Amino acid sequence: MENCLFCKIAAGVIPSTKVYEDETVLAFRDIAPQAPTHILVIPKAHISGMSEVSAENAALVAHCLEVVALVARQENLTGGYRVVSNCGDDAGQTVHHLHFHILGGRKLSLEMA
Ligand code: AMP
Repeated sequence: MENCLFCKIAAGVIPSTKVYEDETVLAFRDIAPQAPTHILVIPKAHISGMSEVSAENAALVAHCLEVVALVARQENLTGGYRVVSNCGDDAGQTVHHLHFHILGGRKLSLEMA
């Protein structure tokens, strides 16, 4: 996707602070962290958000979640962490490329909205 920020980050055209990378998935630090540890996990292939998850891309999405768990271990988030994927305008999704936020490193508020 030509104008997708995270496609450009996945391609290395825009720099990021990578914490994990393999052939299909990338994890990098959020530029505006909301917690001491705030990492984004993305598929390198463009999926616009959770609403586009399907049988065709489910294996890739599952691999993203595998990487979420791996990165959380790597970051020593032993006290716990939150995984968030905002979908659509009402949820406040600003980048329309599927991503999973990993938030941790402090006690998080229980507020969900
Ligand atoms: P969302 O609002 O759920 O779509 O999340 C998008 C996230 O991308 C926000 O937390 C932003 O701070 C983060 N973000 C935007 N641009 C960059 C960038 N160049 N590098 C790292 N994170 C970014």
